[in-house]
Amino acid sequence: MASARIATAFTRRSLTHRFAATRTQPRSLFCCQAHQMSTDASSVAARLSSSGFIRSQGFIGGKWTDAYDGKTIEVINPATGEVITNVSCMGARETNDAIASAQEAFVSWSKVTAAERSKCLRKWYDLLMSHKEELGQLMTLEQGKPLKEAIGEVGYGASFVEFFAEEAKRVYGDIIPATLPDRRLFVVKQPVGVVGAITPWNFPLAMITRKVAPALACGCTVVVKPSEFTPLTALAAAELSVQAGIPRGAVNVVMGNASEIGDALLASPQVRKITFTGSTAVGKKLMAGAAATVKKVSLELGGNAPCIIFDDADLDVAVKGALASKFRNSGQTCVCANRVLVQEGIYEKFADAFSKAVKNMKVGHGFTEGAVDVGPLINDAAMHKVESFVQDAISKGAKVLVGGKKHSLGMRFYEPTVLTDIKNEMILAREEIFGPVAPLQKFKTEEEAIRRANDTNAGLAAYIFTTNMQRSWRVSEALEYGLVGVNEGLISTEVAPFGGVKQSGLGREGSKYGIDEYLEMKYICMGNMN
Ligand code: NAP
Repeated sequence: MASARIATAFTRRSLTHRFAATRTQPRSLFCCQAHQMSTDASSVAARLSSSGFIRSQGFIGGKWTDAYDGKTIEVINPATGEVITNVSCMGARETNDAIASAQEAFVSWSKVTAAERSKCLRKWYDLLMSHKEELGQLMTLEQGKPLKEAIGEVGYGASFVEFFAEEAKRVYGDIIPATLPDRRLFVVKQPVGVVGAITPWNFPLAMITRKVAPALACGCTVVVKPSEFTPLTALAAAELSVQAGIPRGAVNVVMGNASEIGDALLASPQVRKITFTGSTAVGKKLMAGAAATVKKVSLELGGNAPCIIFDDADLDVAVKGALASKFRNSGQTCVCANRVLVQEGIYEKFADAFSKAVKNMKVGHGFTEGAVDVGPLINDAAMHKVESFVQDAISKGAKVLVGGKKHSLGMRFYEPTVLTDIKNEMILAREEIFGPVAPLQKFKTEEEAIRRANDTNAGLAAYIFTTNMQRSWRVSEALEYGLVGVNEGLISTEVAPFGGVKQSGLGREGSKYGIDEYLEMKYICMGNMN
């Protein structure tokens, strides 16, 4: 955590003062007229704040709570560098109280009927969707993604709540044929208990609902730790969960000192499950830390997605798919194409068409009128990483077809970039770029493409573009990845299992499989039944 961003409540900057002043106004929550909103970031921020949509405290046991030592941390608009607000900077003590609240709420929530839990989740879904404009604006403010994309994420995030509202009613057990005549054998499924959910900044809503919705659906309660960069969407979603009738204490949100909060969640024997989305390095630490109390663990970690374009691909489909998978969220998704492998017969044509399409992408502030395709990177460290990866590649012989430098908008805007002549020794051929940079690599045969695609410790998403049916099956089966898109660059949906193999993670989120991560199986043997 950047210590410079930690401030006491008395050192808030001017924009925050404006928000603080609005606190005396009545909090008729979420009453702003989204369609009348100005597209200017600071006026959007002021309106969201005055309507009570921007929360700055943590949420513990259903109460909005300051950090116990009064510390706050700035939330910054990555497009402008302005401070949106200061939020509580919490640590171990607040986390332990949130765990205790979640434990208390678990006792009653786990006994509520599945039908009732389902109704609450459905109501939460309805509230998220009816506030999708405001939630989208909040997300654009704190995360930077273009407003249309942000509103799209609200729909995507809410879809998990809708889906698991339905799944809540389908947590079935089993009856097993007995091995002795006087016995009856049953399997029942029960909620694991209190869940600690740690989420990243790149999908400020969807990464939370993908965990919290299945957890609540089967009777668990949660302590959520959103990223320090994007806590506001999480806090607004928590407020809506209470309005939906989900009992206070069932959803808690603490943010601030990541390692202190993480350590408190890991140390607590009451927390029975850790679910994490984020970098592989932090995921490994959490997995090791969970061993001390033998918690269930789900990990959604980093990727290094290959996007393979075969000679027989439909060029338009391949360009559209590669663009979508590479540049969504400014290249800051775990499933973004990280390496574009192009077969030699189509290489020149693809490089040309792809470069033209990339050149036409519009970079801008998320609130800009008209279509913006690429927003800012999340912070200076991300900008530095992308710049250094591109410089490293250029110094080792890569050629720039498009972009290759910071955008003229300045701040954290980077030009959508296409590089060619990529070699394996370049950092961006091996590590997650997490920025709008597409490195093109040439290959000769299908076997070579599969070998190079699998030559990584990551195994989250892969994409292939081909019109050959047999090849699409053959290559899909050979790729060591949890998700494969064939002739499609956007493949995530609430109804399909999302998750990686190798060092990209453990477990699956979404779909009918995702709820199992929050359930324990209990075998009950009844004797003397004759
Ligand atoms: P990150 O640095 O690992 O952070 C993720 C979360 O972990 C944040 O809430 C962060 O808190 C917290 N954290 C950091 N250090 C911690 C610690 N020692 N103990 C407990 N929590 C800790 O990852 P990120 O930069 O936010 O996200 C980008 C990464 O996420 C990429 O690698 C991407 O591929 C991956 N990702 C994976 C998926 C997937 O489904 N597989 C989806 C999205 C993103 P603070 O932010 O407050 O420091």
